[in-house]
Amino acid sequence: MVFLLGAGPGDPGLITVRALDRLRSCDAVVYDALVNPQLLRDLAAERPEIERHFVGKRGSAEPAASQEEINRLLVRLARAGKRVARLKGGDPFVFGRGGEEAQALAREGIPFEIVPGITAGVAAPAYAGIPVTHRGVSTSVTFVTGHEDPGKSAGDVDWPALARAGGTLVLYMGVGRLATIVRSLLSGGMKANTPAAVVEWGTYPRQRTVTATLGEIVDVATRNGIEAPSIAIVGEVVSLRDAMRWFDTRPLHGRRIIVTRARAQSSDLRAMLETLGADVIEAPALMIERLTTSSLGDALAAIGRFDWIVFTSRNSVEIVWEAVRSRGGDARLFGGIKIAAVGPGTGAALRARGLESDVLPDRFVAEGLVEAFRERPDIAGTRILFPRAAGAREVLPDALRAMGADVDEVEIYRAVPDAEGLRGVAEVLERDGQSVVTFTSSSTVRFFVDGIGLERARSVRAASIGPITTGALAAFGIPVAIEAPAATIPALVGAIVAHYAGSTNAGA
Ligand code: SAH
Repeated sequence: MVFLLGAGPGDPGLITVRALDRLRSCDAVVYDALVNPQLLRDLAAERPEIERHFVGKRGSAEPAASQEEINRLLVRLARAGKRVARLKGGDPFVFGRGGEEAQALAREGIPFEIVPGITAGVAAPAYAGIPVTHRGVSTSVTFVTGHEDPGKSAGDVDWPALARAGGTLVLYMGVGRLATIVRSLLSGGMKANTPAAVVEWGTYPRQRTVTATLGEIVDVATRNGIEAPSIAIVGEVVSLRDAMRWFDTRPLHGRRIIVTRARAQSSDLRAMLETLGADVIEAPALMIERLTTSSLGDALAAIGRFDWIVFTSRNSVEIVWEAVRSRGGDARLFGGIKIAAVGPGTGAALRARGLESDVLPDRFVAEGLVEAFRERPDIAGTRILFPRAAGAREVLPDALRAMGADVDEVEIYRAVPDAEGLRGVAEVLERDGQSVVTFTSSSTVRFFVDGIGLERARSVRAASIGPITTGALAAFGIPVAIEAPAATIPALVGAIVAHYAGSTNAGA
C-alpha cells in the first residue's frame, strides 16, 4: 500500500491529521526536499524504526532521483509488503508530480490512497496576509507553474491569456524565471501598476515577503535577494496585505532563539516563543535521568510521618506522581500533609494532578521558598519530605534545618549532559551570531559550556531566567543580554520580546 501524502507548505502544523496518521503508521517514508525536515526529525524521534528515503535535492525543485527511479522505489517497497508513505511538499497533485506516481502505482496494480495537502500557493499568500480571492476584489485564482522544464517548450503556458483573464495569479516558480514571466504578462497586456508580491519560504519562521507593482517587482525581489522557494502573487488582492499582515509582524518573527533546557521540559517555552513568531532551535544541553531508588517508595508508603512535601521542579512532581500511581495511589495520598511548590510552573504541574500548593513564594527560587517558610511560625519540629535533584543547591534543605525542621531528602533525578542535543548548535551560532540562547537553570549553563566550549559560550547573546542562572553565567564570564524579571517561563519570554522591541528585523 502506498499513501501519497501532502506534507503542507512548511509550517509543521499545516500537515493534515490524516497525513500525520498515515505517516506514523507506515514502514517506509519517501520524501522530497520541500518537506520541512522538522517533520522527519519528529517522526524519527517517535518512530525510529521507519525507513527513510530522501529523493529530493535541497535548493532545487527537481528531484535528485529521476521520476522513474522514484516510481520504481515506491513499487519495490510496496511489493516488499511495506506500507509506504510518499510525502510531498504542499499538495501531492499541485505541481508535485503525484499524478505520475499514482499512474505508475495503478499500472502495477498497487493500491494507493491520496491525502491532499495545503498547497504553498494558498498558504504562502495567507501567511503574507493576502487572500487569494476576496469579495469585490478577485473572483478567480489561477495556479501557474513558472518552472523551467528543459523538456518542455517555453510556450506551454498561455501568458497573454492569463494576462487578460483578470483575477489572481499565483506563480510557483524558480526566482530566476520571474523576469521572463513578468515580461510575458506585460507584453500580454497586463497593467504595469498591477500589485504583485513574492513570498520566500512561505509559512516558515524565515518567511520574507516583498511587494511592488508588476513593473517593479523583479527589481525589488532582486534587490532584496529573494531566493527559492518562492511563490509570486499578481493581482489586486496583494494590496490587501497592508491591512491583513499578521505573521511577519509578530514580535519575534524570524528571530532565532536557542532553547537549551532538557527536551522533555522545553515544550512550554518553545510553544510560547513560536506563537510570537520565533524560529526556535532546540539544543538541549542536558537530559533528566531518573534515579532508581527505593527510598521514594518507602517515604510514600509512610507519608503519614511527614507534615510537608516540597517540590522544586516539574520533574520532581512528575516523578513523584508516577511513583504514587505505580503504587496504585492517587491524590488522596497527600490529603494529610501540606504541599510547597517553588513557582507557578511546579504549582501548575501539581494542580494538573488535583493538588493545590499551600506555599508558593513570590520569588521563584529556593531563597524565595525559604522566605515563604520563614513567615510561617510552625516549621520548627515538622518533618519535611524533599524529593530532589542530585547535585542541586543546598539552600533549601540547609535553611529548613536551620529553622528546626527535620528534612528527609530523596534524590529522584539528576541532570546529565545531552550529547546529541548540542550537536549542530555551534554551526547555528556561527551562521547567526544574533541568536539568543535561553538558560533556564544554572545546570543548563554548566552543561552548555561543557558541550560547546567556554570560548563559544562567551560569544552568545544569553537570556537568563533569573538571578541564580545569571550568577552561573557571570561565573563563566558569559555576558547576560536579557534577564527575566521573575523566574518563570512567561517572564523570560516577555523579557526576550522587550529586548527586541524597537529594533527592526531584516527578516520582516
Ligand atoms: N506540491 C507543492 C508544489 C511543488 S512545486 C505544493 O502544493 O505546494 C515547488 C514550488 O512550490 C517551489 O519552486 C515554489 O515555487 C513553491 N513552494 C513550495 N513551498 C513553498 C514555500 N514554503 N514558500 C514559497 N514557495 C513554495
